[in-house]
Amino acid sequence: TKPPGRRFHKDYQLQVPLTLDDLEAIMLCERPLPKSFNFAADVLDQWSQKEKTGERPANPALWWVNSQGNEVKWSFRELGSLSRKAANVLTKSCGLERGDRVAMILPRIPEWWLLNVACMRTGLVFMPGTTQLTAKDLLYRLRASKAKCIVASDEVVPAVESAASECPDLKTKLLVSPHSRNGWLSFQELFQNASTEHSCVETGSQESMAIFFTSGTSGSPKMAQHSQSSLGIGSTHCGRYKFKSLKHCLTGGEPLNPEVLEQWRAQTGLNLYEGYGQTEVGLICASYKGQEIKPGSMGIRAPPHDVQIIDENGDVLPPGKEGEISIRLTPTRHFSLFSKYVDNPEKTAATIRGGFYVTGDRGVMDSDGYFRFVGRADDVIISAGYRIGPFEVESALIEHPAVAESAVVSSPDPIRGEVVKAFVVLSAPFKSSNPEQLTLELQDHVKKSTAPYKYPRKVEFVQELPKTVTGKIKRNILRDREWGRA
Ligand code: ATP
Ligand code: MG
Repeated sequence: TKPPGRRFHKDYQLQVPLTLDDLEAIMLCERPLPKSFNFAADVLDQWSQKEKTGERPANPALWWVNSQGNEVKWSFRELGSLSRKAANVLTKSCGLERGDRVAMILPRIPEWWLLNVACMRTGLVFMPGTTQLTAKDLLYRLRASKAKCIVASDEVVPAVESAASECPDLKTKLLVSPHSRNGWLSFQELFQNASTEHSCVETGSQESMAIFFTSGTSGSPKMAQHSQSSLGIGSTHCGRYKFKSLKHCLTGGEPLNPEVLEQWRAQTGLNLYEGYGQTEVGLICASYKGQEIKPGSMGIRAPPHDVQIIDENGDVLPPGKEGEISIRLTPTRHFSLFSKYVDNPEKTAATIRGGFYVTGDRGVMDSDGYFRFVGRADDVIISAGYRIGPFEVESALIEHPAVAESAVVSSPDPIRGEVVKAFVVLSAPFKSSNPEQLTLELQDHVKKSTAPYKYPRKVEFVQELPKTVTGKIKRNILRDREWGRA
């Protein structure tokens, strides 16, 4: 049965509702992208309808459990009516309009998912952020995005309040908390009285749905904008896999050192399957279950993306040659890629080289199609004519029991131009070792473990490494310090 008021993709023959096969075919570009798509109306509400007629098993749409053992379980129908109420809070009580940007700074409580779906229903652009953001982080994000509204929980109230006075576009502060507070609208109160009647806006497939701030590892975070179809269709594509208990472990966001993989295997008996991707493009390389894992490699291209290594002229390099990890954009740019960097046409243009999207990361593909990460293009060290990727040196260092973690960057040198410098955090048993002696030992270890020219000519022991809020090493801070650009 077709839900009332919803016409479906008259531009081509698709049954309502879309099946997982339809979505997969769209994802793999075997079918065209529909003109309009909205995850709430075209997936969640369709599944809710199927749940009602018994065509879908009554698997919960959301099952949330916290560390105290409290549980929230919603069917698709419940998620539907609750998110319609939340949609009315955003439009009627907060006065927000389609296209407005909403910063969503909440811990992983059920309201977080509810409000994201509510944004989809109303065409508001949501911008998720962690509650660990500081006042300074929030100020940057609110000003850069010109957010009209911030949704926050108690723990971020002080930071929001200190930033808000400098954010002229910010009209509404919505608090998700059992308590109310001056200057804030109370989500709980408004939600209680909100109507469950709401008709979902019909969003274009390419209309903006969400803005994600990149991690800001290499500079200020960029605002990567994703469309309604990008994540909505992309996520249903992966919705087939179910894990009943822990059988499969994944890692991503930073390169996986072979030593870490080996330790993980030894201690858990499980493999670590790596994924490589970016805020801008999602997952584009991975090692899949059942596939051979090559330690030090992040796996093979993730369909539908045609991932290639290209040179500075935009030409594809053969296996074994190092270049920039890129995605082919011809004949069409896949819809799941980000649309643009908001307010940043120069940075957006810089991601295009010939017919490719360039990730800004350097790597090598082997003859089996496995990609090995070398480093971010800016992090690669050129010493006396040799190109040295920090990942390889860091992977060698971490094999040594004294090394808890390290960051390898370039440092100025009068003869070689640049040399390799390692910032090392020592593991507990080695904290009080003699630094000169340990430096020699680590240098010796790297010379034996990898090509000798890669060894760190400079070593500095530090208590901790500068990291992003998501735990990624900010090598650029260390490098700038070395070069006196701090
Ligand atoms: P910014 O773009 O703001 O400097 P960022 O690049 O860290 O921050 P993200 O989009 O969160 O922001 O991270 C994507 C980057 O993380 C990739 O470009 C790559 O450098 C790194 N990365 C992700 N997964 C892997 C992986 N498996 N191996 C190596 N590097 C990875
Ligand atoms: Mg990036």
